[in-house]
Amino acid sequence: MLTDKVALVTGGSGGIGRGIALALAKAGAFVLVNYNGSADKAQAVVEEIEAAGGKGEAVQCNVADFEACGDMTKALLEKHGRIDILVNNAGITKDKLLIGMSEEDYDMVLNTNLKGAFNTIRHLARTFIKQRSGKIINITSVVGIKGNAGQANYAASKAGMIGLTKSIAKELGSRGVCVNAVAPGFIDTEMTRVLSDTAKKAITDNIPLGRIGSVEDVARVVAFLAGEGGDYITGQVISVDGGMA
Ligand code: NAP
Repeated sequence: MLTDKVALVTGGSGGIGRGIALALAKAGAFVLVNYNGSADKAQAVVEEIEAAGGKGEAVQCNVADFEACGDMTKALLEKHGRIDILVNNAGITKDKLLIGMSEEDYDMVLNTNLKGAFNTIRHLARTFIKQRSGKIINITSVVGIKGNAGQANYAASKAGMIGLTKSIAKELGSRGVCVNAVAPGFIDTEMTRVLSDTAKKAITDNIPLGRIGSVEDVARVVAFLAGEGGDYITGQVISVDGGMA
């Protein structure tokens, strides 16, 4: 159980982040539901948490902005006194074959997915060190492990998150902080709903378990790592991909 724990979930307003926020709240945590532009969706997630008997709060912050992340974490620590669980889930795609990929599309994806994770971890690391405990869970992707044509920027950001995870696990381990990555495969969210049925079928044909994943498939593993189940696990990349990787 996560009773008395405070969890910050970046990109908690939609898709996988919403599922993670609901799962952590169900396990008893107070969940800080971060969003960038979707205030209404974040508020709806908080209302869903409360309707199920849990507690949460919506928090606006663009994770790509280092200073804004500092302001957010400072304000949250002043208000709640602690943060025990950080889930770096906020992420975007700007897919194009390399030959047509703009510098802007590359930077935007790297800044949100990879630097965004650095930004929140950098601002919360001292808190975790002082608390001598903490769980950091970075949502990477099967694409960060295998690469994918048309997603060089996204794959680089997700592979970078794996290096970030493993390095920080080594730095913070002696202070009782566990740092892991979860690598979803193909999950049914707005990010993947844009694909054509033909593309989805081609992907599903390459999933050994024969189906697209749900946000709950991912959220359950994150909740496990955030709880006692993850107390002796650090520096790992856990694939939740139906066997894709
Ligand atoms: P999604 O439905 O598009 O949701 C993305 C979330 O990230 C939204 O809540 C969005 O909030 C937030 N976000 C985007 N930019 C942000 C920023 N700059 N600052 C703060 N929040 C920001 O995506 P998803 O499919 O749930 O993906 C969630 C994570 O899982 C991503 O890191 C993604 O790379 C990873 N993943 C997804 C899949 C998949 O198949 N879906 C597979 C592997 C990995 P706003 O709307 O408020 O901006």
